[in-house]
Amino acid sequence: MQNVQSVERATAFSVQGLTKIYGTGETQVHALRGVDLDLPQGELTVLLGPSGSGKSTFLNILGGLDSPTGGTVTFQGRDITALDSNGLTQYRRDHVGFVFQFYNLIPSLTARENVSLVTEIATAPLRPDEALELVGLSDRMDHFPAQLSGGEQQMLTIARTLMGNPQIILLDEPSEGLAPVIVQQIAATIRTLAAEGLTVLLSEQNVRFAMHVASRAAVIERGRILVEGPIADIAADEGVREAYLTP
Ligand code: ADP
Ligand code: MG
Repeated sequence: MQNVQSVERATAFSVQGLTKIYGTGETQVHALRGVDLDLPQGELTVLLGPSGSGKSTFLNILGGLDSPTGGTVTFQGRDITALDSNGLTQYRRDHVGFVFQFYNLIPSLTARENVSLVTEIATAPLRPDEALELVGLSDRMDHFPAQLSGGEQQMLTIARTLMGNPQIILLDEPSEGLAPVIVQQIAATIRTLAAEGLTVLLSEQNVRFAMHVASRAAVIERGRILVEGPIADIAADEGVREAYLTP
């Protein structure tokens, strides 16, 4: 995890003219239509948008899991869209933690074993018990995913992500379908990560969760950023409240 040096933050990601077209001809889908966005280092930014707006596509490209059709993504001064597949693998391994929309836990492994898997691929891992302690799962280490609640499974995926000691964490709708009390725990965990200097980008459909965790927000609709800025300003916007404030 990196140090926070000053209030004037460096840019972690600089995204310019990012486009993504899936498919060809009649079945073409323009998932991203020219996204420009800077993500400050050590800040927690939320990408707010409805289903189908391009959130997962955007996160996948920043995480080096997918390539754009056009545009550039610069991470700490390096254009990751120019990397070949070996370069992308190394980028993911050295810098990125990804928490997917669906948990991707291995059912036949315990909590400890699920997070331990990362030690085999990461360069600077934490110990499994350290990662599990960070998310409050110290007493559930020997439980299987099926013995954990949805919220605990989500915490476990976050622990697994922390094992790689990433500089960036990307979370795709981490609160989706979870009870409010669990969402509060997840929000607290995510805030802790940002406080430690990690750059965090998460996607979300509800501005209420965003208000609990993020310092900045960008609203995405139909593959375009409509507005971005400090979360307080975004959350105060009438249009945003109408579209994204669900109980
Ligand atoms: P979100 O995460 O905001 O729901 P996505 O990034 O998943 O949005 O999707 C954006 C658009 O791209 C949607 O219209 C979706 O149907 C389409 N899309 C996403 N992935 C693919 C794919 N692999 N092939 C074709 N279309 C896709
Ligand atoms: Mg999605």
